[in-house]
Amino acid sequence: MDISTKLESGRRLEYEDGLALYELDLFTLAKYANAKRKSLYVNKAFFNVNRHINPTNICKDVCKFCAFSANRKNPNPYTLSHEEILSSVEKSYKNGIKEVHIVSAHNPDTGLEWYLEVFSKIKKKFPSLHVKALTAAEVHFLAKEYSLTYEQIIDKMVEHGVDSMPGGGAEIFDEKVRKRVCGGKVSSKEWLEIHRLWHKKGRDSNATMLFGYIEKKEHRIDHMLRLRDLQDETDGFNAFIPLVYQRSNNYLRVKDFLSSTEILKTYAISRLMLDNIPHIKAYWASSTINLALIALEFGADDLDGTIEKEAIQSAAGAKSADGMNIKDFIDLITTSGFVPVERDSIYNELKTY
Ligand code: SF4
Repeated sequence: MDISTKLESGRRLEYEDGLALYELDLFTLAKYANAKRKSLYVNKAFFNVNRHINPTNICKDVCKFCAFSANRKNPNPYTLSHEEILSSVEKSYKNGIKEVHIVSAHNPDTGLEWYLEVFSKIKKKFPSLHVKALTAAEVHFLAKEYSLTYEQIIDKMVEHGVDSMPGGGAEIFDEKVRKRVCGGKVSSKEWLEIHRLWHKKGRDSNATMLFGYIEKKEHRIDHMLRLRDLQDETDGFNAFIPLVYQRSNNYLRVKDFLSSTEILKTYAISRLMLDNIPHIKAYWASSTINLALIALEFGADDLDGTIEKEAIQSAAGAKSADGMNIKDFIDLITTSGFVPVERDSIYNELKTY
């Protein structure tokens, strides 16, 4: 059965189908991915009003694609105090944020409580704020550093007020590629196990995939299928977020960067392969806002949020350091022919503009 016939039959796509999708021309692929998105959300484009905080960039690990951690290409180590973090949250809360998204590097000098207590402090002061925090890579780091099990760290996260987990640290699951680009951090199996344990607590999370560096299409499809398998089991992922590799200030030597066509195809293929993950996020901080808006025609339905401050993608060259004004966000979505829908962190619809 050729890939178009299979898509039209509505049957679940397998590994070879994913590779065949990359061979379709862009607009044929868009037709199928867009039809799937429309069948779920018509012309809604989701976003949230959130604030990103990256409390420290001092890291025990050395991922070759990373421009955020303090190293010789980025000699700017910092660690925020809890007071500084709370003050940033307070300012953003007054601006109407509903979520604070907290992701750090793997700092061995702070102590476990520095990582965790800030969540309970935020919850105590701003009980309505959704705390999305600690990637599976951070959970792994904290478990190893403080000789605890993943479950013990997860219990502490719940106890300290973490509501959901971000999807970072997944990078690419293929073991050979992973060893080359980030061999020291959480393994693929461990990343999936941590999300499995988190979902078993009845909690939600997201999942990312970093692409556009040394991985191949085969690895992307494999990555999506490993996530799809876990989602079949736990149903705990809200969104899949393909992150476009940023090229500046890191240790990877990448000769050929992805074309916009390949990026858009990857969003579209994500929508078609991941038939059990409800949302495909075109994270504008990694793709650029213009491409993220176009991605809405290629299967994506979510753009992430206003962010306010962004340190990870922007360290590697993305134009995202100051986030996005909500009015601009709404105008851009509207002029692209979509209806902006503000959502909360677990995709309850809050307001349609
Ligand atoms: S990606 Fe994360 S774990 Fe890896 S070096 Fe950067 S901050 Fe550290």
